[in-house]
Amino acid sequence: MTQETRTFQAEVAKLLQIVANSLYSRREVFLRELISNASDACDRLRYEALTAPELAGDDSAYRVVLRADTKAKTLTIEDNGIGMSRDELIANLGTIARSGSSAFLDKMAEDGSGDLSLIGQFGVGFYSAFVVADRVEVTSRRAGASESWCWSSDGAGEFTIADATRERRGTAIVLHLKKDARAFLDAGTLRATVKAHSDHIGIPVVLAADDGDETLNSASALWTRPKSDITADQYREFYQHVSHGFDDPWLTVHVRAEGRLEYTQLLFIPGARPMDLFQPDRKCAVRLYVRRVFVTDNCEGLLPSYLRFVRGVIDSEDVALNVSREMLQQDPILSKIGTAVTKRMLSELEKKAAREPEAYAKFWDNFGAVLKEGLYEDPSRREQILALARFRSTHGDGLVSLADYVSRMADGQQAIYTIAGDDAAALRASPHLEGYAARGVEVLLMTDPVDEFWIPAVANYGDKSFVSVTHGDAGLDKLKPTKPVDAPEPAKAGDIAVLAALMKQALGDSVKDVRASERLTTSPVCLVADDRDIDRHLARMLKAHGRLDHVSAGVLEINPGHPLIRSLAERAQASGASPALDDAAHLLLDQARIVEGDPPTDVAAFARRMSALLERAT
Ligand code: ADP
Ligand code: MG
Repeated sequence: MTQETRTFQAEVAKLLQIVANSLYSRREVFLRELISNASDACDRLRYEALTAPELAGDDSAYRVVLRADTKAKTLTIEDNGIGMSRDELIANLGTIARSGSSAFLDKMAEDGSGDLSLIGQFGVGFYSAFVVADRVEVTSRRAGASESWCWSSDGAGEFTIADATRERRGTAIVLHLKKDARAFLDAGTLRATVKAHSDHIGIPVVLAADDGDETLNSASALWTRPKSDITADQYREFYQHVSHGFDDPWLTVHVRAEGRLEYTQLLFIPGARPMDLFQPDRKCAVRLYVRRVFVTDNCEGLLPSYLRFVRGVIDSEDVALNVSREMLQQDPILSKIGTAVTKRMLSELEKKAAREPEAYAKFWDNFGAVLKEGLYEDPSRREQILALARFRSTHGDGLVSLADYVSRMADGQQAIYTIAGDDAAALRASPHLEGYAARGVEVLLMTDPVDEFWIPAVANYGDKSFVSVTHGDAGLDKLKPTKPVDAPEPAKAGDIAVLAALMKQALGDSVKDVRASERLTTSPVCLVADDRDIDRHLARMLKAHGRLDHVSAGVLEINPGHPLIRSLAERAQASGASPALDDAAHLLLDQARIVEGDPPTDVAAFARRMSALLERAT
């Protein structure tokens, strides 16, 4: 026997460490994951055997077999699927293929609750075996190959790979159960766990026992059954199986299309965000079947990536199966199915939005940021997605649609006003909103990074354009204040002009300009972007991602109605530049930066000026 010892990829080692030290709220998740892998392996062989029947040989009765050995304290999960070669064992069970799994690790490490239940959503479900086992042996023989290999590990940094003598193709996973996990040797426990979490695996899951085999699941393709025969519980179990989750589906759409295109869709919108939602390589997680044969769960282009939160199954009757997966992705029938399904899902969302606005708000909070990607990726559905979009705004806490917004625009208002930032609460307190609030103008709070991309691409809704309140001209001169402003007498225009010029002189290149503000009513200052520059929030975002070298200097707006600005303006007019005025200019700029969430430009200078100012005041 030749045996080789290898170390796990660093990410795997870290993951295994977390797995070993977790408190398990749902430790039975390992069984769901291993059965799901076994069933995937059978699915893959079934598909490959369509073009290479010799791979399946005379054994096409695909199944998963569970075997409990109470003496040896082992649980074995065996399949007659595609199996793994030596290289595949090393690559699949020693490294993490999918990008974004480090996000899972961080999350696991951070919440410390040890809830591993969503492990399958990160493409690392296999490692959940170490939740219940202190040693795992995987013996596998690839379909079509004559040699077999045994992968073995105790999950502590290393695994070994040795040649083995497996007589049939497929994979057997032997779990040496930890003391506290021996309940999984019990037939009753296995029966209940399979029934609860793997009932809708399409092939039989069999419990092998001395007194005969027992099939534990219903082993049917749920989506092929008539809707009227399927209970809500069955839909939910099936959803949890395809999503590797434990939440309830928010929406279930089961449709059989007949006529020019024949297919069945059983699709779900999750009730909670799947963990891989923002993984860059996750384009579409819907499982594609052709006449009940599983083809792929990563069919790029089947559904648009702005619907990548959709889970479930599409099963086509018409697509030819004797072409490669790559060719399938360009199949004209599939692209027609994709179009029809997209249309259907969006219209289901429209219905929900109209009939159950509160439930819809939950959907929107989970997936609105993803759906909005469609606004620039799919111009053909832009109007439809704009109608589905909801926003937080300065009017109340609820969500508003663009139609709501336009219907209550102020007299004379021409544009849809927006403000962008990371967090709605901070935005609501922004000085930039003061002038709009005083005129009863509602402003939409844009807190998703994607907003910075679709707004310039879409530019307007109907005949109203989107205008940022932190950018260029405030556009408030045509709008009347809704209530009489009992502001103190503003500074004289001449005094303000002198103050603005002196402040600009003091601040130099740290500001593009200093000018009187229309948008301020109570704050003394704020920073806005020059007309020709990009919005400041976007600039900061791009800089944070290394896509922009520096954020251009902003325009510092000063509020002529503010007592502080008025007295500074009078002093500037009377006695010109002074060290005190210089300090005030810098402190006001720093204040405007702090309100935006940035630190002062020069923290030491800020502290020095602040002390000097306080000293003069006491
Ligand atoms: P995922 O199933 O999401 O890819 P897993 O961690 O569950 O992630 O499994 C990793 C990989 O190991 C699978 O993609 C598959 O290639 C391989 N694998 C796991 N179990 C089996 C099995 N029983 N038969 C064949 N391949 C398997
Ligand atoms: Mg898996």
